[in-house]
Amino acid sequence: MYDTVKERIRFYKSPPWRRKREEILKRDNYECQECKKQGKVTVDLNRFNQGTKHKYLDVDHIEELQDRPNLALTDSNLITLCIKCHNLKHGRYQKKVKQWDDERW
Ligand SMILES: [Zn+2]
Ligand SMILES: [Zn+2]
Repeated sequence: MYDTVKERIRFYKSPPWRRKREEILKRDNYECQECKKQGKVTVDLNRFNQGTKHKYLDVDHIEELQDRPNLALTDSNLITLCIKCHNLKHGRYQKKVKQWDDERW
């Protein structure tokens, strides 16, 4: 159902997802839940935000969209992550993310 990138992009652009995404961000208090779990509150986010509060946060599918399309809009399968945690989860590494690494882990 969401096997191709094209289909996934269409999903992420769809109004139901956009609405759901906002809902989840709000539910999670606009905080990265992974950072929160590690006791790293998202103070850093604010520093980079400069008015665009949502820019560094993604809503992630805990069970991947392509694996569990039936959970695409299910609250319990959705979690707010910062871009850094999100990339880590998916094993992606982007140069861009480097700028976040100014604090010691
Ligand atoms: Zn995070
Ligand atoms: Zn994800």
